[in-house]
Amino acid sequence: MSAAPASGEIDWTETDEARHNRRAKAARLADAARALGLGADDLAVGTGNRLRVRRHAGIDAASEKTWAETALILADDPPRPCAPAARPCWHCGARDDVRTYLNGPACPQHTPAALAGHAEVSPDPATTLAALRERAAIAAAGHQPPTTTVVDERAVTAGKRRSANHVHQAMKTAALARARTTRGRR
Ligand SMILES: [Zn+2]
Repeated sequence: MSAAPASGEIDWTETDEARHNRRAKAARLADAARALGLGADDLAVGTGNRLRVRRHAGIDAASEKTWAETALILADDPPRPCAPAARPCWHCGARDDVRTYLNGPACPQHTPAALAGHAEVSPDPATTLAALRERAAIAAAGHQPPTTTVVDERAVTAGKRRSANHVHQAMKTAALARARTTRGRR
């Protein structure tokens, strides 16, 4: 009859066995949610997703505590979002050559520009990701940052870092030769 346990009574939802069962159930619900592409936020009451997830997991009922635990599991390991190309065109459902636009994934026939009767906008070649990467690579090749290799080399030459004797000697010779070249240039 009484819903809330009176003081002194055992809370049967917090025994070791109940906790263990809840964790196992939550893990199954989390797996089902992930399979349906649902994350922690999608499991709120009123979304209708709890029923879908329960059915997918083959679980008849789940308490609020179980759902809370499921949400925690999902929050730690959220479902991977679908790659844009894997999503169909929102207009016709085609899956080939689908790209993501502001209004959703679209095939070449149903891009925002195509639907508006305009020609596709082609980006300035200098501002494409490929061009920016290329420029960054050229800039990076231009100057050499003090990498660990350089630091290691100096340490070995100075004898601060342990190395085989012939390596140490070779580096010392190389450093001397470099120093002479530099002095000769002045
Ligand atoms: Zn389409």
